[in-house]
Amino acid sequence: MTAKKPLPGELDAIETASRDEISALQLERLKWSVRHTYDNVEPYRKKCLEKGVHPDDLKTLSDISKFPFMTKFDLRDHYPFGLFAVPRTKIARLHASSGTTGKSVVVGYTRNDIDNWANIVARSIRAAGGRAGDMVHVAYGYGMFTGGLGAHYGVERLGCCAVPMSGGQTEKQVQQIMDFKPEIIMVTPSYSLVIAEEFERLGIKPDEISLKVGIFGAEPWGEGMRHEIERKLGIDAIDIYGLTEVMGPGVACECIETKDGPVIWEDHFYPEIINPETGEVVAEGEEGELVFTSLTKEAFPVIRYRTRDLTRLLPPTARSFRRIGKITGRSDDMLIIRGVNVFPTQIEEQILRDQRLAGNYQVVVTRDGHMDNLEVRCEVQRELSGKLSGADIQQISKELQHRIKTIIGVSTKITVMEFDAIPRTQVGKARRVLDERPKQD
Ligand code: ADP
Repeated sequence: MTAKKPLPGELDAIETASRDEISALQLERLKWSVRHTYDNVEPYRKKCLEKGVHPDDLKTLSDISKFPFMTKFDLRDHYPFGLFAVPRTKIARLHASSGTTGKSVVVGYTRNDIDNWANIVARSIRAAGGRAGDMVHVAYGYGMFTGGLGAHYGVERLGCCAVPMSGGQTEKQVQQIMDFKPEIIMVTPSYSLVIAEEFERLGIKPDEISLKVGIFGAEPWGEGMRHEIERKLGIDAIDIYGLTEVMGPGVACECIETKDGPVIWEDHFYPEIINPETGEVVAEGEEGELVFTSLTKEAFPVIRYRTRDLTRLLPPTARSFRRIGKITGRSDDMLIIRGVNVFPTQIEEQILRDQRLAGNYQVVVTRDGHMDNLEVRCEVQRELSGKLSGADIQQISKELQHRIKTIIGVSTKITVMEFDAIPRTQVGKARRVLDERPKQD
């Protein structure tokens, strides 16, 4: 699909506003949000009192750095509703995080929050090239996870037709895509590959598939994975970012005309990047931990919420808002192998530099005495499965091992498997890391 540039009048005025206009709106909303939280969320007010800050201290945008952070621990400590800023009777919906990294946390939305969220997701789908009248196949899980329903309301808000398929039942997904002919799919990148593999298995070529755009998020994925998905499905693959605590999917989304990192919808979310060790705000453009303050949320406002996602802020391109770079990974996904920091996405990038290898992979960490060992399991592409000689496989392993050693700096054992040997995740996020080291505590 050729990138759809938005037509005049199609965008919200703020998407093309000047930086001064954006900052003015942000400051007004930031003041409201901080005061709203201080007045109505007792645990946060306590934190402010301990730190000696008051909402009146917020005079400029950068004054936000004086305020205390919120973390996932705050959500857990006040489970389920302790951080809500409105009475229970004003809550129109609850969601919970999928619990990738521990016990789930619960978030709430007022009717206005749901309305704003729908608008932001609609804006995201439009940025991805979607327009009213398009059909959108939603294969994010429906339920407590924010993915399915979050996407769904945005699809309807933009005036598109929603196919609320949810995750799983891959054969049925493919059948419906062939029968209904949607233009857009919204799904995790890892599950989109599973769907692509099912098309391949049936001998259906990318140009026989109606899909033109895929909007992928909820887990980290790199440029190599983008090309793999685009090639296999014959689509433009767009990155959407979000997290339950801040809203759900649609906190930021890439624009199809540039595909250069998700644009943060800065009229609703104020971003900062901090040094995760010291908590200090880093210089613009430097990498660190992404922190968000919600600007319009009523039920569950977050002030300086530490996402644990590592990335950098990039200057505006297709819209007036700033972008985030690719999420390298969550600080809690980071493996430290013999002193070297390793993210699964770095390994993914090296695997996908070899066209003979497919996008599904697993990283297994074991401990031998005091030594951590890293095994990378990957698969050959379907068309090569069973056709490569032992020498070919050995060559592929050697090359991959060498790339990982020289670029990431860690020694690995590589296991190249036949296609489909690694289990696929049908619902929810892919499980890339199997940490088999004995638990310590
Ligand atoms: P959980 O915390 O249980 O995984 P969420 O569904 O709220 O629940 O997950 C949000 C997290 O998913 C983000 O903090 C980030 O780590 C990851 N994520 C979401 N979208 C993307 C994306 N486009 N790229 C990389 N990571 C993403």
